[in-house]
Amino acid sequence: MRTGRLLFAIRLIIGAALAVAGVIAALQVPGPLIPAAEGLIFLVLLAWGQLEHESRRKDSPAYRQHLADLQGFARDVRDSALFVRFQGGQAAATNTVNMASPRAKDFSVHFPELAKQLDQWNALADGWTTSVMWFQGVCHKTSEKATNDLTSSFPQLLRALGEGEIEAAAVTWRIENNRLEASWQQDIDGQPAWSQITRGDSQRDPLAGKALGPAIEDVERVWETVRTFPNLQPVVEWRRRRVAHDTLRPQLLDALEQAELVVELKGKCAHCPR
Ligand SMILES: [Zn+2]
Repeated sequence: MRTGRLLFAIRLIIGAALAVAGVIAALQVPGPLIPAAEGLIFLVLLAWGQLEHESRRKDSPAYRQHLADLQGFARDVRDSALFVRFQGGQAAATNTVNMASPRAKDFSVHFPELAKQLDQWNALADGWTTSVMWFQGVCHKTSEKATNDLTSSFPQLLRALGEGEIEAAAVTWRIENNRLEASWQQDIDGQPAWSQITRGDSQRDPLAGKALGPAIEDVERVWETVRTFPNLQPVVEWRRRRVAHDTLRPQLLDALEQAELVVELKGKCAHCPR
């Protein structure tokens, strides 16, 4: 390898000197300008030589291997940080990436923008599952307080409101079979999908023993919760994180796929073949 480079350098210098002399003679450059012309031609030849050297380097097996290693890193990140494997398939996931490994450090040199995105991803993904569970817990607790009903679909509605999927104004309400129901999405036939928010037996007619439906206070408590829940500070913070996550994920996926398709590396890392 070293002998090859030395021979290449000698050949380049001899070739360049001959070419410079030849070109200057052919152009009949006036005497005082000869050093300037020599210098210029020499620089052009040097740049050409460097270009040739670079292109040879990029065809070398070591370079190909290095590129394959970095592309392998991009693939591993996608498979471990953005997805989880289970029997017969893959599901979306949110896991952190170890950016301190030697391969990750090399990768960061060649793909600095993507490395920045991975740092952002790590900040969001750290403790992600715990936060998802925490927010679900908040929705359930809030629902229970407002409806006193464990079978209510109110937690799902609160989740959609809290995560900014829907606005409170987009929810439709009705009382059906003595139950307060809400609709915030459509079923597969494009019809409003109704979900139970309060049970029908919260008030009973003491004489007839039959349900009277929700009291006005019950309905007002639910509506007040719908109005205030998305503005609670922890909910606002969670929504911010959720939106940042949902925005970054497809961008990251795209950038990782781009990295896997790259044929030429930019920059030089500690393990780049010379
Ligand atoms: Zn490298």
